[in-house]
Amino acid sequence: MIGFELLILKSLRMSRRESRLCQHSILLKSYTLMSYIWFYDSWINKVQVKRRVNFMSFENLVGNQRIKRLLGYFVKQDNIPSAMLFTGDEGIGKKSFAIEFARMLFCQSRIGVNACLQCSSCKRINSPEISNDRETFKRVIFSGHSDLGFVLPYNKNILVEAIRDLEEEANMKPFEAQMRIFIIDDADKMNVSAANALLKILEEPPHTSCLILISSRPNTILPTILSRCYVLNFEPIPTEEMANFLVFHRKLPYQTAKILSECSRGSLGLAMTSDLQQLVNERETAFEVIKCIISDDMNRLLQISEEMTEQLEDFLKILEDLVRDMWLIKLEFSNEIVNKDMKERLERVVESIDESTASLWINYIENLRETMQLNLNKRVSLDALFIKMRITLAYGN
Ligand SMILES: [Zn+2]
Repeated sequence: MIGFELLILKSLRMSRRESRLCQHSILLKSYTLMSYIWFYDSWINKVQVKRRVNFMSFENLVGNQRIKRLLGYFVKQDNIPSAMLFTGDEGIGKKSFAIEFARMLFCQSRIGVNACLQCSSCKRINSPEISNDRETFKRVIFSGHSDLGFVLPYNKNILVEAIRDLEEEANMKPFEAQMRIFIIDDADKMNVSAANALLKILEEPPHTSCLILISSRPNTILPTILSRCYVLNFEPIPTEEMANFLVFHRKLPYQTAKILSECSRGSLGLAMTSDLQQLVNERETAFEVIKCIISDDMNRLLQISEEMTEQLEDFLKILEDLVRDMWLIKLEFSNEIVNKDMKERLERVVESIDESTASLWINYIENLRETMQLNLNKRVSLDALFIKMRITLAYGN
């Protein structure tokens, strides 16, 4: 049924575009759409489909209470900004907030600021499932709801064609909700042409559309785009809050949930998808890297470099957390460290390095994490990082 519904909505969207000037045709199609929605709702009510709901209400989103209140306030006041930027570290729930915001806005039986999770709108709002075909990414990709569209990067680039399609879609009136929402994920991954095309939309914002840009690297977005967005900065989720969330949603024992929360450093995305044992293994390998750099065991370092190439981004984050913890211990801020269960082991290795070396190591790792976006040779980059860390330790900066 859902597939059938999607087909109808998509075909309507296409044909409406082609016959925009034909008022009669539009009226006819609106009537058909309304009839369909009525039919769909009654069908849902009649058969009382008890599907497992795998999304949560806006109220149950974890962390960032201030932003939650603010978005709820926008909806209550019926005053939605035409463009928002959700920014903050990766995996802390920016996209989930955007999707749940859309659900709250589109719900047909909203209770306060909470979506009912039962109406046909609520049930059709989700992240789209897509094939990795370039053509797909040249257009706005719609979820099950015809007023919620996504612009997603293809091979780490948002295609200019997708932004041009966005301009057309954003200027259309909503099909079934009061407004249309478009989520631009990884909005920093736009080249100059795509960014300029987006700027053109933001300069004359459509009245019935809201664009939500999502980015963990807002400093790479054009200032002229940033200045036209209502910016919401997401904070990492506090460990305790995330641990409780994991106990409830992943059914983990509290101690396991706590370690996982600490290792995930405020990233719910990582905590929800990580395998604790794998995370612990990767952390052990990262710790071994530090010991090998101190003991000048280059053979083992190059071997680890080869082993870690596949999961390099996760591995670098774990390594950075460990080095940052060492730096904090050096500064006598032990209470602030992330890997609390490794405190004693970290204190032992910290004796071999000074504060400025730890600080430089953090910079090197951060720089590599940034440049990972550029499709560099991962193996060579990781070898170079280890060598640079060793040279800094042995000879200073
Ligand atoms: Zn609803």
